[in-house]
Amino acid sequence: MAFKGGIILSLNAMNRILEVDEPNLQVFCEPGVVHAQLNAALKPRGILFPPDPGSTKMATVGGMASTNAAGMRAVKYGPTGAWVLGLDVVLPDGSLIETGSAGSRAKQSSAGLELTKLFVGAEGTLGIITRLRLKLMPIPPARAIVTALFDDLESAGRAVQETFAAGVSPSAIEILDERCIRAINRYRPGMDLPPVEAMLLFEVDGNPPGVRWDAEKVAGVVRPLAHKVEWSDEPQRIAALWEARSLVGAAIGALRPGSNRAYCGEDICVPVSRIPETLREIQEIGKRYRIPIATYGHIAGGNLHPGHLIDASNPDEIRRVLQVADEIHALALRMNGTITGEHGVGAVRSPYMRHEHGLALEAMRQIKEALDPKGIMNPAKLFPN
Ligand SMILES: Cc1cc2nc3c(=O)[nH]c(=O)nc-3n(C[C@H](O)[C@H](O)[C@H](O)COP(=O)(O)OP(=O)(O)OC[C@H]3O[C@@H](n4cnc5c(N)ncnc54)[C@H](O)[C@@H]3O)c2cc1C
Repeated sequence: MAFKGGIILSLNAMNRILEVDEPNLQVFCEPGVVHAQLNAALKPRGILFPPDPGSTKMATVGGMASTNAAGMRAVKYGPTGAWVLGLDVVLPDGSLIETGSAGSRAKQSSAGLELTKLFVGAEGTLGIITRLRLKLMPIPPARAIVTALFDDLESAGRAVQETFAAGVSPSAIEILDERCIRAINRYRPGMDLPPVEAMLLFEVDGNPPGVRWDAEKVAGVVRPLAHKVEWSDEPQRIAALWEARSLVGAAIGALRPGSNRAYCGEDICVPVSRIPETLREIQEIGKRYRIPIATYGHIAGGNLHPGHLIDASNPDEIRRVLQVADEIHALALRMNGTITGEHGVGAVRSPYMRHEHGLALEAMRQIKEALDPKGIMNPAKLFPN
């Protein structure tokens, strides 16, 4: 959205994978390469780029780097930023720089300021990424999923903590709340998910015996807290469970036919220990403003996606949902969390940046002014004005 006018660049046509450097486990690509296409091209070589956003079929690697996108497996593998080794960036004055050491194929460096990190998550406010050098890893040979159903949110929150305390590092833990479960059942009647307050999907990956050990361990730890627990390492069952999870974004609409999902206050991240109280408070906020909210998310990292359903033609509902977003952002900060776990700031969240960062926001502004003194790169985003 060009709030101040200007030129919008579409980099979709810059979609070439330039080189897969297999021995050094890295890939050079243009920013418009779509995430799913990158991993499809790498799969026959047995390697992958592990960040895994739900938007895999449309997210570009340039956009993922620019928002520091995370996704389901970030708890084990980290967000996109952990996998960016270097970037070619066109700066606002037209000069082209290469971050991560010019011509380097090394996987690490401590030579100076980490400029790559500066452009990761900058949402295009500091320059345009024209090439990325991304780190890769071998595809884990096995996966399993543990499914657990909980009668109350608190037990689901405790199950996450106890899994880590038991020494297991799942590659993903996803939560669906009671409304999401209802929504999936309405959207896909064959799914028949039971009506419980929360469902968790734990994924473990690695070598086959290790995966079975991990899955049994998670099931054993979670069983005393859950209504029902089962695990499977059968690829078809795993695919079916991930399908249920992937439907949720679209399915939520089924809770209120004809409604629109409001993307504000939809991406908070809180400490894992505070997830149950955060989930309860989100429900209270929804009740207070009479807006139905269904919440799902990457619970292992504390990233929650409350989905607010409104009638977008009703100005009163728009007014109320903006109040909901205000309250949810304030809640995230009160819980010692952040207003955005993975989607980025853009324009919608810029008013909350001062509250989240305090004086550190001024340091960010100084960097912005040093690199982009005329303010031509993605103006009116990220910084409040
Ligand atoms: C259905 C759905 C599910 C999602 N699930 C997840 C999820 O699980 N995890 C997650 O992290 N995110 C998720 N997202 C949001 C996700 O962050 C974005 O989809 C994706 O990372 C952005 O990529 P994009 O190519 O769409 O970028 P865009 O939306 O086009 O751009 C994002 C920002 O980056 C800037 N930008 C883009 N390319 C460049 C470049 N080359 N140089 C400089 N700046 C650039 C843009 O100006 C903009 O500010 C989801 C989105 C949807 C719609």
